[in-house]
Amino acid sequence: MEKGLIMRSTGSWYEVRSESGEIFSGRLKGKFKIKGMQTSNPIAVGDWVHYSMEDETHKHVIIEDILPRSNYIIRKSVHKTAHGQLMACNLDQAVFIMTLKMPKTSLGFLDRFLVTAEAFRIPVTIVFNKMDLLNESEQEEVFELAALYEELGYGVLLTSVETGVGMEEFKHLFKLKVTLLAGHSGVGKSTLLNQVSPQLNIKTSEISDFAKKGVHTTTYATMWELEKDTFLIDSPGINELGVMEIEEDELSHYFPEMRALLGECKFNNCRHVREPGCAVIHALEEGEIATSRYLSYLSILENKDNRR
Ligand code: ZN
Repeated sequence: MEKGLIMRSTGSWYEVRSESGEIFSGRLKGKFKIKGMQTSNPIAVGDWVHYSMEDETHKHVIIEDILPRSNYIIRKSVHKTAHGQLMACNLDQAVFIMTLKMPKTSLGFLDRFLVTAEAFRIPVTIVFNKMDLLNESEQEEVFELAALYEELGYGVLLTSVETGVGMEEFKHLFKLKVTLLAGHSGVGKSTLLNQVSPQLNIKTSEISDFAKKGVHTTTYATMWELEKDTFLIDSPGINELGVMEIEEDELSHYFPEMRALLGECKFNNCRHVREPGCAVIHALEEGEIATSRYLSYLSILENKDNRR
């Protein structure tokens, strides 16, 4: 059996890239069941699979099984709320692109994404794009956020395609890695991508995307091969990102600043909400934990609306 990489998916068909770079159309053999996974899609972009040839002329293959995953990003499925949707698998890193305005990316959305990545310790770089649109006080806000997230251990990069700020660093982020690219529509993702790799000529109209905000066209991710051993996964339509598979009492493990305080609360089953002797609340009051981060924690804990 041959080994291949899933590059795209439509839900029933999968684009499979052979190890030599040939592209096939694959479908699953029978019903796939993966132990312990409650997902609406059994295979996602980034998965490695075994396949066998079904029709050489039309390049159709049958996907026989999935190789073990090193990690994955899962979100709440748009349609079946009890199930998660696998977004991407086997990532080396994630790059989250956000903008302070036009459109505004909420910190709640960013933090949800970080928690999802943190579950597998997938390194994340946060890119603040469209820096040229910001006035002085807005820039100041970005500098403060950059300092906050850098201290938490995340990579941070400030970019503007207009002025070229950060573009060299941006291009170097991807080399020899499998990267998931995330962010609201309209944050400039495809414009940035086309700077990295003009030959891809990614045709996602940012303007119409922005105008149609909330309308789901495709919710499946697509993988691009930028160069040898450099893959980029674009994930459209992640405006709603529910946090899946994380138990209430382990949520604080995925906030690095809270993880550092584990074991210091008076009660070992502390949820860090109203409990006496809580080290997290103490750190919050001392200004050692950012209020915005704590609010994100509460919002995920209470499983409120995904946008804040
Ligand atoms: Zn506590």
